[in-house]
Amino acid sequence: MERGAYLALRDEFLDRLSSSLPVDGVLLNLHGAMEVEGIGDGEGDLTKAVREVVGGEVPIVATLDLHGNVSHELARNVNVLTALRTAPHRDGERTTERAVGHLVKCVEEGIRPSNTLVKLPLILPGEFAVTDVEPARSLYGRLADLEKEKGIIDASIMIGCAWADTSRTSVSVIVCGEGEEHGSRARELAEGLAREIWKRRSEFAPEVETLKVDEAIEKAMKAKERPVFISDSGDNVTAGGAGDVPIVLERLLSLGATESVVAGIIDPEAVSTCAKARKGSRVRLRIGGKLDRVNGYPIDVTGVVKHSDPRIAVIEVDGVEVVLLSSRWQFASAKGFQEVGINPLDRKIIVVKLGYLFPEIRDIARRSIMALSPGFTSLDIGRLPYERVMRPIFPLDKDFEFN
Ligand SMILES: [Zn+2]
Repeated sequence: MERGAYLALRDEFLDRLSSSLPVDGVLLNLHGAMEVEGIGDGEGDLTKAVREVVGGEVPIVATLDLHGNVSHELARNVNVLTALRTAPHRDGERTTERAVGHLVKCVEEGIRPSNTLVKLPLILPGEFAVTDVEPARSLYGRLADLEKEKGIIDASIMIGCAWADTSRTSVSVIVCGEGEEHGSRARELAEGLAREIWKRRSEFAPEVETLKVDEAIEKAMKAKERPVFISDSGDNVTAGGAGDVPIVLERLLSLGATESVVAGIIDPEAVSTCAKARKGSRVRLRIGGKLDRVNGYPIDVTGVVKHSDPRIAVIEVDGVEVVLLSSRWQFASAKGFQEVGINPLDRKIIVVKLGYLFPEIRDIARRSIMALSPGFTSLDIGRLPYERVMRPIFPLDKDFEFN
């Protein structure tokens, strides 16, 4: 995140909080993987500032996305951290309700719990830890057992965000306990769960067939099922990808994969060119490769405008419909397609700039293939040029023990 944008948002928030004092408690809805230019740990910085405003005695509870890279500072600044327990995420409301419950308990009973954070020397792409499948399913299933113990308030497993190159990027376990004696029990439980995760580190893998780009397209073309969804996983806009790498489109055209949709490619210039042309007219465009010039390059196409509004355009190029977007946005439900006149059930192949499919897309996909495409969210993390993550760390380093 740009430093100026972060500071403006943070300071407005702190001003409003200051003018609301005194408060009984603070609930923060955070993510946990915010990296700020020149500051680093966004959530650590924000919670430190909130703690300074409200003082040491006011309870602070924060929710996290399980893809956050938690720092010791964040764990210290907040009384209770509680994270999502499903990926793909389906439990946002439940997590917020749980957090509100913790905050009310802190206020009513006068307790001030604290977090024990154990960071594992392990990084995982989110696609390797879908919580409906092993090993994540049974590991997340352990959280409820931990919380049954007296004095234990909450427990979380953080998968982390492998595409942020920071010193706090890792899988971690958080157990929140109340009081001194429960604090040491919280540590035992957190370490025990961390050891279980470590033992199973090699089992984490994508739950769907994972193929190189050409193989993914060829398999989808031959498949009996329709629609087949192909995740352009290297350029996943929900994980930090630029969203304009047009390589899967280039391969679809080259392999003659008709009845296909690419949803979508970010290219405001192309969207405005289409907006000036009439529906049904032919346009020549140079698509994509403008934001991410490391992994992509622009490609030249000629197509017919099928839909055009100030935000989105659809052009058809040799049987491939290309959705062009004016800003980063993910196609995470059937509704998004319908708005641009595409019924995904009528198409053979749908390419989305996602990793794992979101719940609503999962419901309409007859088959799902993960393409190992290039981009800033490459699943081939062993080949990314990490500079700041702790070392040793699995799977970048393999022959070492974790204690
Ligand atoms: Zn997430």
